[in-house]
Amino acid sequence: MSVTIAVDGPAGTGKSSVSRGLARALGARYLDTGAMYRIVTLAVLRAGVDPADASAVADVARDTVLSVGYDPDEDKAYLGSEDVSREIRGEAVTRAVSAVSAVPAVRARLVELQRELASGPGSVVVEGRDIGTVVLPDADLKIYLTASAEERARRRNAQNVAAGLPDDYETVLADVRRRDHLDSTRPTSPLRAAEDAVVVDTSDMTQEQVVEHLTRLVAERTGVQR
Ligand code: C5P
Repeated sequence: MSVTIAVDGPAGTGKSSVSRGLARALGARYLDTGAMYRIVTLAVLRAGVDPADASAVADVARDTVLSVGYDPDEDKAYLGSEDVSREIRGEAVTRAVSAVSAVPAVRARLVELQRELASGPGSVVVEGRDIGTVVLPDADLKIYLTASAEERARRRNAQNVAAGLPDDYETVLADVRRRDHLDSTRPTSPLRAAEDAVVVDTSDMTQEQVVEHLTRLVAERTGVQR
């Protein structure tokens, strides 16, 4: 039996690591929808387009060929045939991605692609902001991860440092708050938990504990162990 799991929540809840861990535990494919918004954002920046210019952004999005990997142990993102896995995690893309992902035409294009990719063979864990509410309203299990802004910034900063980026907690915290605000107040697909989502506060949990908890939830709700 195969299952579709939606994992949503704001930046820095450990969502990405936890979703990958869950996919690994279930032997499922993993789909990182944030990476898709980041690839389009990179294309927008490279085209010299202002991320606030919705109609120009929509034009770029329409012509952007992108793909992402399914392997939870890899982090592969392509713009055309170019591997942009590292570049999409950089500061320029991170700063512009909320504006680009607020453009309805961008969301329409990516949501359609995400549904197509999620419907592939076997179980899949789909990670994002609007997976349970918009992309896959019929997911077998919807999980919404939360954590305090300070804890999320601490984690994101540690991730940055591990990836060789500068150690700068205050900037990361300001960015977490700014993106929370933009993501939760945008008119199209604002960030919120689906009514039938299981909300998990990860502030005081290790990643391993969260993955264990979610794996148990999947088994309870769907009967699927692996
Ligand atoms: O998950 P990640 O931090 O890489 O996502 C980057 C940005 O992409 C988010 O801040 C949000 O603006 C956008 N996003 C979105 N909908 C999704 C996934 C990501 O709007 N399903």
